[in-house]
Amino acid sequence: MTSTDTPDLPQDQILVWVSCGEGTVSVTGRLVARHFAVTPKLTADGTIRPFGLNLIHVPTGLRIPALGFPCRDQLRELAEKLAMLPIDWAAAEPGTFGPNKRQLIDQTMDSWERGRRHHVCKTEADKGGEQR
Ligand SMILES: [Zn+2]
Repeated sequence: MTSTDTPDLPQDQILVWVSCGEGTVSVTGRLVARHFAVTPKLTADGTIRPFGLNLIHVPTGLRIPALGFPCRDQLRELAEKLAMLPIDWAAAEPGTFGPNKRQLIDQTMDSWERGRRHHVCKTEADKGGEQR
């Protein structure tokens, strides 16, 4: 699965194929780092939820399992940390990472989780409710 650039969307917005319970659905997301996009949270049948944001690995459509309701800035920070790892995210497939890469990802997620406690949202609207 790949994302598709469509000319009628603002420049940083792309259509992202997201895996959900029913297969894959396409939603509008915002590219926040190479191969990572923020999209609205989806229900199991692919409907957009009124609140919440997901970080999606664009090449696979898989959600990065961040707990709670991180805001867009927090997800962008996580995406940038993940994108900097020595991992070929363009070719990455879930379940194929060896222990070394898994550990890098786990450490990145852990350090991001710790940093989240100190995050102060710039605006109330930024707290995960914003979607499009
Ligand atoms: Zn925030």
